[in-house]
Amino acid sequence: MTESEIPKEYNANEVEEKWMEKWDLSMYHFNWGEDTRPQYIIDTPPPYPTGNFHIGNALNWCYIDFVARYKRMRGYNVMFPEGWDCHGLPTEVKVEEIHGITKNQVPRAEFRRMCRELTEGNIDKMRKTMLRLGFSVDWSNEFVTMEPSYFVKTQKSFVRMYNDGHIYHEEHPVNWCPRCETAIAFAEVEYDAGQTKLNFVHFDKVDIATTRPELMAACVAVAVNPKDERYSRYIGQTITVPIFGQNVVLIADEAVEPEFGTGAVMICTFGDKQDVRWWLKYGLPLVKAIDKQGKMAKAAGKYEGMSITECREAVISDLKTVGFVYNQTPLEQNVGLCWRCDTPIEILSEPQWFVKINPEGILKAADEINWYPEYMKVRLQNWTGTMEWDWCISRQRIFATPIPIWYCKQCGEVMISEESWLPIDPNEAAPKKACICGSTEFEPETDVLDTWMDSSITALHVTGWESEHELRLPAQIRPQGHDIIRTWAFYTILRSLALEGKRPWDSIMVNGMVLGTDGHKMSKSLGNVISPEEVTSQYSADAFRQWGAVGGSTGSDVMFRWKDVVSASRFLQKMWSIYRFSMSHLKDFGPEDAEKFPLDSLFTIDRWLLSKLNRLVETATKEFDGYQFDSTFKAIRGFSWEVLADNYLELVKGRLYGDKPEGKKAAQYVLYRTMKTLSLLLAPFIPFFAEELYSRFSNESVHTQAWPTIDESLISEEAEAAGELIKEITSEVRRYKSDLGMALNAPLKKIEIYSANIDTGDIAGATNSEVELMEGAPSFEYVPIEVKPNMGLIGPLFRKDAGAVVKALQAENPAALEAQATSGKITVTVNGQQIELESEAVEIRKEVISGGREVDVLEVSGTVVVIVR
Ligand SMILES: [Zn+2]
Ligand SMILES: [Zn+2]
Repeated sequence: MTESEIPKEYNANEVEEKWMEKWDLSMYHFNWGEDTRPQYIIDTPPPYPTGNFHIGNALNWCYIDFVARYKRMRGYNVMFPEGWDCHGLPTEVKVEEIHGITKNQVPRAEFRRMCRELTEGNIDKMRKTMLRLGFSVDWSNEFVTMEPSYFVKTQKSFVRMYNDGHIYHEEHPVNWCPRCETAIAFAEVEYDAGQTKLNFVHFDKVDIATTRPELMAACVAVAVNPKDERYSRYIGQTITVPIFGQNVVLIADEAVEPEFGTGAVMICTFGDKQDVRWWLKYGLPLVKAIDKQGKMAKAAGKYEGMSITECREAVISDLKTVGFVYNQTPLEQNVGLCWRCDTPIEILSEPQWFVKINPEGILKAADEINWYPEYMKVRLQNWTGTMEWDWCISRQRIFATPIPIWYCKQCGEVMISEESWLPIDPNEAAPKKACICGSTEFEPETDVLDTWMDSSITALHVTGWESEHELRLPAQIRPQGHDIIRTWAFYTILRSLALEGKRPWDSIMVNGMVLGTDGHKMSKSLGNVISPEEVTSQYSADAFRQWGAVGGSTGSDVMFRWKDVVSASRFLQKMWSIYRFSMSHLKDFGPEDAEKFPLDSLFTIDRWLLSKLNRLVETATKEFDGYQFDSTFKAIRGFSWEVLADNYLELVKGRLYGDKPEGKKAAQYVLYRTMKTLSLLLAPFIPFFAEELYSRFSNESVHTQAWPTIDESLISEEAEAAGELIKEITSEVRRYKSDLGMALNAPLKKIEIYSANIDTGDIAGATNSEVELMEGAPSFEYVPIEVKPNMGLIGPLFRKDAGAVVKALQAENPAALEAQATSGKITVTVNGQQIELESEAVEIRKEVISGGREVDVLEVSGTVVVIVR
């Protein structure tokens, strides 16, 4: 025990900064070479380096850190790696903004360099926040997806999956963001309700209803339902599209809803996913009316060059001029938007790279994984069940992992990189061999890979895939948000199966989103964004982390509430006061005293506390194992505050300040053991605070200690019941004193407790009175001493005479009146008249006499407590 004084106020910032300086972070390193301890590898989400580690990240990392620290203490060889998912459009856009350029104004390599530079700076900023929040990251296993050391693995995985037939190149309709000018995957399309107009247009034989008149140039067929009698005679005939004049066939298909619009619809390439289905089913021609920038293409004739909206208006106005539009009605419609920029997506047919999807394999693997919470699995199953297209993995961007492919200029053959050439950028290096046709002239693939191709191999990467270490797949846990189940979780399972034939992880823990204090999603425009730094600078990292623990259960959305942070700070101060008090009584009690302390000299209340403490360890362990951080932390907090501080400490103060060595030693032993155990239980949640507590017990870090074990021999229902009785008797006596207006430390003549199997020293100490345990049952005599008239009854009955009735009642002898009341009726004389009253009209106060003394009697959980007045 160090001698240094413990300040009264807990200075969180000072303590937290001190430990940030002192900690040797290598204590969190994973040991690759070891196989004595079981491994616990975490497939940490690599955040996008925006430079801003936001509160949603911070909540997720709190969860990860709780688990990492807990598992280390439970004896696992834990890896809590940190990755950075660098590639992607937001960085490209930011670079264009900062340098005032567009990506095509500088050479590709130069543009990539600018992106890298921005990313490095952003990673530095986010790393600082993570350190400040006390996350026990294993920095020896950091990975950065833009570094060749990582993207060589992305490329290797591409090459292997291509060679194994999982990847193919094809022209196929894909979701396209005209603003990002790139293909995107279906998982990246977000649907939002929007208002549009349904236009009713005369065609030569039928009328059609359409929301996309600008696509009339790309109309390749008209479809009706085969059961729709209005149109059956035209099926198979040719129809002319107004304005554009092309002739298209009228086909019958069950998927057309006769009740919608006119019951006849245009099939365009492509208005929506249904168009694609029909286009494939009927082998229809392809007309490209919209180009990659979202402008009308050559096929749109005189509308070429217009934006989609301009063209829509122009076409409608032209149709109106010739009287072809005969009605327009508003329509609610779900619009597909690019998840990065919210621009409405188009479906364009372009040559792209695709990964084949194997839904059965993914569903089977999902079943082998433990989902926390369980219901999140349904989201993955639903998504997997709706997959119609393969995963489009090529993007028409620059800052991303290059696709290691060239095309032969001579014969067009695809040349894929050999693994030994990787990492490689085909735009900067040529293949190291000739084409099968003999030519050495190649065209590089300029498309790059979807960033999910980088991040979907994190589970492989962190378990040592393609490294000097043995592969340790599956990882033990994947923590992630529910918003990326259909992307990150789905793709990771897919890739792990394709590359290693195994599930990526044993468990997945899905966290919710953080909502602002107003209950809305945090956004700059709503002005409800709160940064982790704001919380740590006003309060502390430990207060923030507690909010993370108790803000909500795993998986649910969590609202940010300042009051949670404030009460978290209050708990730190309360805990500090408990600790400070305990330490002040442990100056002459050290580890050796604890070691040789004889347990049979514990008092009842000591056994009660130790039994509760061991039950707490039991609960905390069970809840932690189920990733229930809120209930784990609440159990620890409840024990510390209510059991320890409010009751135990109050009860043993007498012994601690007293001069009897046995009683004092027992209380010291309990305090020593409890405070040490609490610092261990708190360590995963509030690492700074726990370290500060523990530093006075040991020279080692609390974060290298074992999680407390449950001492079954100390769990006893009997001890708990006896302790509970002591606690209750004490608090009843206190309530008794306060009812009488006595000071809490005022001594009573004597307290007698009948037939209880407890020791009384602590009750005596806490009540400052003599306490005696009595055998058998007490005998009482009740002596009536005062008549208390019941005004509520007498008042309304006698009105102006009530005063006189009361006076008369009070004048009676209490014992005589009591005798009357027992018989059921009371008779008194008021103003010379006899009045009869119900026995309820009076209350007779009695004095209790026991053994000739005036006493008060309390009954506490069936035990009689006699207080001599
Ligand atoms: Zn976009
Ligand atoms: Zn060739």
